[in-house]
Amino acid sequence: MSAAQGASLKYGVPQPFQFEAPSAWLTRLAFAQGIGDFGELRQFLGLPAQGDLDWHLQGKALDELRQRCRLPASSFAISSRLMQGVALSRLGPHKLLLSTKDGEARFRFCPCCLAERSLPYLDIHWRFACWRWCPIHDAVLQDACPDCDALVQHPYLIESTRAGRAGHASLSRCIFCSGRLAGMLVQKFARECLQVLGDVDQLWLKNGQATMAALYQQHFNLRGKWHLIQRLGDEYGLLVGLGGRHIDRKLEVWRSTRELHVAVKDPASW
Ligand SMILES: [Zn+2]
Ligand SMILES: [Zn+2]
Repeated sequence: MSAAQGASLKYGVPQPFQFEAPSAWLTRLAFAQGIGDFGELRQFLGLPAQGDLDWHLQGKALDELRQRCRLPASSFAISSRLMQGVALSRLGPHKLLLSTKDGEARFRFCPCCLAERSLPYLDIHWRFACWRWCPIHDAVLQDACPDCDALVQHPYLIESTRAGRAGHASLSRCIFCSGRLAGMLVQKFARECLQVLGDVDQLWLKNGQATMAALYQQHFNLRGKWHLIQRLGDEYGLLVGLGGRHIDRKLEVWRSTRELHVAVKDPASW
């Protein structure tokens, strides 16, 4: 694979899903390209050899990826805007994003979402420490493989994993033991988890949704007053903690793309 000026991938490039995380998409890309050395792919795409690629892929770095892979200009737009919100928030990526000891991207996941996807992919909001609950399935997100307790991290070379060697080249499988992240029992557990939590804990989990909307919209409302996202560092405890009950309900629009776009385009409607 050459990193010649202006070179791009013409074939075998999976189309990104709207809410997909770039780091996990790179796992899908490497598999589709039959890549045996991830360092080579990172170099070709102009990516750093190590570190959190979802955080890195904004601005010029994201433009370069789109050009190298001939992706539409809207690819990873939601991820990019969220990362801008993180950058402006004064909290920084280390406080807001889940990562491994080596600083690579780590994910929670909703097993019910994964089970419904004919082509499993991972959402960018599953990277956020505050995002604990799936509003689509009323389920608590899971942290690790139910069989071996391994964390979910990306990107990786899927063919070199135990799951890949066993013919399970899917993001819905654990890379270490090949266990099903979206198995029926895991789905049942994720839904029952929420039912046994008290009302206050449930509220705490659900306030992650408002925090994501705040990062995306780059402002938020507390106690009837609007604040720029730069203020998030001062108020984060309220947004993700028990005081979150004061958050304006209008911000609980994350995951509803139509409402998000209306809110962003038409500030007068806030
Ligand atoms: Zn879900
Ligand atoms: Zn496992």
